[in-house]
Amino acid sequence: MSGGLAGVVVVGAGLAGATVAASLRTVGHEGPVVVLGDERHLPYQRPPLSKDHLKTEGKELLPIRPEAFWIKNEVEFVLGAPAVAVDRRDKRVLMADGRAFDYEHLVLATGASNRPLRGAEGSLGLRTAEEASLLAATLRPGARLVVIGAGFIGMEVAAVARARGVEVVVVEALDRPMSRLVSVPLSEWFEVLHREAGVRLVTNQRVEAVKGDLVHLGGGEVLGADAVLVAVGVTPNTVLAEEAGLQVDDGIVVDAHLRTSDPAIRAVGDCARFPSTDGSTRRLESVQNASDQARTVANAIIGKPEPYLSVPWFWSEQFGHRLQIAGVAPPDSTTLLRGEPGSEDGFSILRLVDGRLASVESIDRPRDHLAARKLLGADGAVDSIDLDAASDPHVPLHDSVAPAKFADRPRR
Ligand SMILES: Cc1cc2nc3c(=O)[nH]c(=O)nc-3n(C[C@H](O)[C@H](O)[C@H](O)COP(=O)(O)OP(=O)(O)OC[C@H]3O[C@@H](n4cnc5c(N)ncnc54)[C@H](O)[C@@H]3O)c2cc1C
Repeated sequence: MSGGLAGVVVVGAGLAGATVAASLRTVGHEGPVVVLGDERHLPYQRPPLSKDHLKTEGKELLPIRPEAFWIKNEVEFVLGAPAVAVDRRDKRVLMADGRAFDYEHLVLATGASNRPLRGAEGSLGLRTAEEASLLAATLRPGARLVVIGAGFIGMEVAAVARARGVEVVVVEALDRPMSRLVSVPLSEWFEVLHREAGVRLVTNQRVEAVKGDLVHLGGGEVLGADAVLVAVGVTPNTVLAEEAGLQVDDGIVVDAHLRTSDPAIRAVGDCARFPSTDGSTRRLESVQNASDQARTVANAIIGKPEPYLSVPWFWSEQFGHRLQIAGVAPPDSTTLLRGEPGSEDGFSILRLVDGRLASVESIDRPRDHLAARKLLGADGAVDSIDLDAASDPHVPLHDSVAPAKFADRPRR
């Protein structure tokens, strides 16, 4: 597109970038669409990398769309090299080798990168296909794996590794696993699940250094390891935006229409910090967020702008159990148990703020999850909740809550 017809240029060939491109075609955009990606692969799904993909070596990547879709829909990919600069005056994206791509609309979908851990340089990480292959090759029965960080990715890898007969120790600086996103009772349930399967979970401990095959903990313990995975979170890829003079604050700052401080440039997915309905701003790292934001942007580009108001949802899989979370709750929310942990029907934990429903965490209860998404999506919050009914797993979740009465609240 250099010097040719300016269309949509997307930087980042991950889920968000790919979904922008695919959605543009679905909604009828006929102009040029080019996606610039620094990875070598056509867009692929990352969630399996810490789940099924690790179960056996040499698994194929799961594409976001088959190659034939991109060819048929005339989406051009330029892969294997990063975009290095955005010339906003001339509306042009520059590559290191001198190539340039003119745009009418630019979408930044640059995602996030693993946060490095000082003292653990040279350890494994897990974000890309290549990193997943390296990790999978270490998961041999009897091998010793130390996972640093008990977030979702660390805990998912621990579960797969343990199921493959690996001796696993998870080291977490905070007092419980997945504390950023799940309630205390749910963390506790997962701790038991992992411990019963033979995973050793060491909480309230920092890793001081990884030296060769030894992991030194702050408390003095030294763990032997054949492999060390650092899974301590990610940082958004914002350098391109920052150097282009766009507003950045732990993410590329966008408005409700996902526009950056330059209206010709939008940002979506893990890299974007957007306004949430409670008046704060947030950045989410999830499939739902990347996909829904991408669709919102595609519609805006064809002249059908709508504010981004989707209900956040997320899932995880560990030891054959499926966790689904709808909504986001602050750490000080109260919790209500629905159903019996350990039962075949699963259970849910409702998280409430001032008596209003903020999120629902479900283990093996997809019906509760879907009901929660609808409830939270209808009003952004639920005004009152019948605690007795909500804790009874035989009463449909929908029947235990009264919808919020904010008639002027935007519908989702
Ligand atoms: C192992 C793993 C498991 C996960 N499991 C789940 C799950 O179970 N459920 C869930 O909801 N979410 C999960 N996620 C999160 C989810 O995959 C991400 O939220 C989603 O991939 C974000 O998509 P994205 O396109 O915004 O970012 P990315 O997927 O990070 O894609 C961004 C792309 O842009 C590229 N890029 C960056 N800068 C440039 C540049 N200058 N030029 C060219 N290219 C550039 C990056 O290399 C990358 O390829 C998981 C993530 C990982 C890593």
